[in-house]
Amino acid sequence: MEKVAVSEEQVLPMDAVAADVRGLRIAFVNVFAVMHTAGWTLIDAGVPFSEGVIRRWAESFAATPPNAIVLTHGHFDHVSAAPGLAEHWDVPVYAHPLEFPYLSGHQEYPAPNSGAGGGLMSLLSPLYPKGPVNLTGRLQPLPLGASAVLPGWEVLHTPGHTPGHCSLYRAGDRTLLVGDAFCTTKPESFFEAAFAPQPELHGPPSYFTSDWVTAQSSVERLAAMDIAVVAPGHGKPLSGPGLQADLRELATRFRAVAVPDNQKQ
Ligand SMILES: [Zn+2]
Ligand SMILES: [Zn+2]
Repeated sequence: MEKVAVSEEQVLPMDAVAADVRGLRIAFVNVFAVMHTAGWTLIDAGVPFSEGVIRRWAESFAATPPNAIVLTHGHFDHVSAAPGLAEHWDVPVYAHPLEFPYLSGHQEYPAPNSGAGGGLMSLLSPLYPKGPVNLTGRLQPLPLGASAVLPGWEVLHTPGHTPGHCSLYRAGDRTLLVGDAFCTTKPESFFEAAFAPQPELHGPPSYFTSDWVTAQSSVERLAAMDIAVVAPGHGKPLSGPGLQADLRELATRFRAVAVPDNQKQ
């Protein structure tokens, strides 16, 4: 599969992604903490058994619990610690209403495309807990546009990877938290993701992406925005003068770079 190469100089440290934004990589997935005038918010909640790691990390920089947990989408690698953390912190969990069936124990995501990419992640994907995680009682609809939960941030609906996938954008410094709308590492390969040699722009994780046409539209919309910093669910955060052009290249070459061969009709 083709790729959009990115310079190593564009990589940002996880503990200083942008002003008041820090991240933590757990195995192959990232969570982020965003500080703002209403306190701070946890963005995504990691793989199974990461509750303790996230709590200790949060306690290292925040004296108080977050005001909320915001989920970019409901895949297991982004939500697994959410029930325990929400209980411990006694906070609501926000997600787009189109993700609610997958977050309230009602419905499972479509079966992963285990033929996509060919890496270990894809081969193992039938074994992943597709859900359903049950956040009933904590779950709140995440309103689109200027966010009251995350003052200074805007919630963008960026579907395709999942129906209710959302990205978060701060116009003040043009920072984009992109969830799984696209990645900065080849997400099909656990080993590449874990030891992450060279940052590259890729599409959304292909084993779990349900609608490639919509996913491309979302990437095109994001690439047309004014972006200085990108922090994805998988891969390293990036910045630098070339970033905008790299994103446009990803959007333009989306079919070659992102869509798995067995999904190209
Ligand atoms: Zn995902
Ligand atoms: Zn993911």
